[in-house]
Amino acid sequence: MRVFKFGGASVKDAAGIKNVQHVLKTVGYEDVLLVVSAMGKTTNALELVIKHYFDKSAELNAAVQEVKKYHNQILLDLFEDENNAVFTAVSEQFADLEYFLAHNKSPNYNFVYDQVVSYGELISTTILSHYMNFMGMATQWLDVRNFVKTDANYRDAEVDWELTQANISKNVKRKTLNITQGFLGSDPNNFTTTLGREGSDYTAAIFAYCLNAESVTIWKDVPGVMNADPRYFENASLLNQISYREAIELAFYGATVIHPKTLQPLQKKEIPLYVKSFINPLLQGTSVSKGVDLEPYLPCFIVKRNQLLISLSSIDFSFIMEENISEIFALFHQFKIKVNLIQNSAISFSVCVEDKFNNFTALNAILSKKFKVDFEENVTLYTIRHFNDSAAQTVEANKTVLLKQVSRETMQVVTKEV
Ligand code: ASP
Ligand code: MG
Repeated sequence: MRVFKFGGASVKDAAGIKNVQHVLKTVGYEDVLLVVSAMGKTTNALELVIKHYFDKSAELNAAVQEVKKYHNQILLDLFEDENNAVFTAVSEQFADLEYFLAHNKSPNYNFVYDQVVSYGELISTTILSHYMNFMGMATQWLDVRNFVKTDANYRDAEVDWELTQANISKNVKRKTLNITQGFLGSDPNNFTTTLGREGSDYTAAIFAYCLNAESVTIWKDVPGVMNADPRYFENASLLNQISYREAIELAFYGATVIHPKTLQPLQKKEIPLYVKSFINPLLQGTSVSKGVDLEPYLPCFIVKRNQLLISLSSIDFSFIMEENISEIFALFHQFKIKVNLIQNSAISFSVCVEDKFNNFTALNAILSKKFKVDFEENVTLYTIRHFNDSAAQTVEANKTVLLKQVSRETMQVVTKEV
């Protein structure tokens, strides 16, 4: 069996859904499990619904209507006959969502979040499955919550592999076209959970692992894994073949094509992962598999913008050592600030971090009591795997280099645009 993952961008409108059908026709679909994300930016739109819900804002209803309108337009574009059962199926799901919003009593943000955002995937797979059936491809729609079991850590749930394996072994039919939702699971009380934003790749890996699948294919709007983001680098080129290890490294440093959690389960069972273009499904794309990388390596560029560079030094010129460092890290963790690079010298300690939730001011108030704190906002962190002189030149040109760290395979540079 093969596992295919189609992300939000691939099903963002009627043309996208038609294209998914075209891809399946082109590459075969007899023994396939499709993992599908919410359509386009639906998860973000549902996050807005949740925000209005908690703010008790008058805009709540309008935000829900917006999501409805978007899906309804796709339905109208796909199905001429408004008596098609899909219209009822989708409106029932919206009715469930509205019922939840009207009756929920839980004040737990993360719990509510998962119950609400899950409709994105439930609805997208309902539409896709009806469309496939309509086009003569019989599908088996699976509610992923009956398969992927997790703990109750809402928004970042941990998979219970044993239960999940048992459910999948017992109840996923082979030799058919299965369609299920990415990103979702359910907890021991059968409440909906999610696996973290962009988690649908991971869902594909979970199914592949439990099914001993032949391969996983992630269908993207790019030709595969590139050595640099083509939006920012002129001569970006496709990596035809990389090892699991290299892919894990790239994901770790922030390459966004593959969700970082996806690779480990696949590597364990040596299931190859293909990243391919849904626009040109017959092109080779990138294959991630066991074994050696093609040498020489192409330098790979990963860019993280909007970073914060913080330097701490001791007020009394004493050394910053284990004890201080563990205390500093505990604070970063507490304030949900992600550390992307660390550099230590005798009396100072520098980190390049991402402050997604704007917590630095609060953290700084605490740090400043113990350390002299210098910081530079809005810096860029470049990581070059397999760097060479000319690659380094590319990122350093016309910029002020604030910090640089070089190891055997990887060079990281923090810069400020001038
Ligand atoms: N729809 C979810 C998100 O946007 C999961 C995914 O797309 O992988 O985060
Ligand atoms: Mg998505």
